[in-house]
Amino acid sequence: MTTGRIVVVEDDPSVAELVTLYLRNAGFIVEHAPTGARARELLDELRPALVVLDLGLPDTDGIALLRELRAKADTPVVALTARADDAQRIAGLDAGMDDYVTKPFNPRELVSRVRAILRRAAGMPGGGRVLEIGNLRVDPARHEVLVAGRAVTLRAKEFELLEAFCRQPGIVLTRDKLLEDVWGFAFPGETRTVDVHVKQLRDKLAGADARIETVWGVGYRLAAP
Ligand code: CA
Repeated sequence: MTTGRIVVVEDDPSVAELVTLYLRNAGFIVEHAPTGARARELLDELRPALVVLDLGLPDTDGIALLRELRAKADTPVVALTARADDAQRIAGLDAGMDDYVTKPFNPRELVSRVRAILRRAAGMPGGGRVLEIGNLRVDPARHEVLVAGRAVTLRAKEFELLEAFCRQPGIVLTRDKLLEDVWGFAFPGETRTVDVHVKQLRDKLAGADARIETVWGVGYRLAAP
């Protein structure tokens, strides 16, 4: 059974071969890009369902490539990160990767993370009723946000974060809870990702009646008018 097309961006031939083998066995169509340049070509050409992206590439900064991709599309990205490189992992989260595995990794774990992300991505449209708070309107089915009738473009994670707030207006949500709900897995102590995304969301929602308030030492709350 074919479950979608995946582009694997990885310069290490043995890692690329292993990842490709496991993903193919799991039913995916896999294309391999050994360089950032080839990745750019393939991503434009193929519009894959998901990208596995090694952040350490010979010709391109992996984080820069991730940002480029995010500027164009919400294609889910699972990053392959170097062991013990916290800075790289945090930069990847801020740039919009959906999940990561740290080298060396078990290819079975990578496959299960890929599947989980595609399940979440598939579940996103049709997610239920329209949420309206003052002049803020969030339509999960159409993946659409309006502020006073004006369309606001949000990235996938920003949208999910806003949805989490709108489903529980007035309730304080901790950073850990938001990480778990929106990113689907825990990053102990890496809650700065939440702060970065909340900041982006606040900027984009300027003019909305509902505001995301900081509750010092705890987390955030959507304050409704
Ligand atoms: Ca590499």
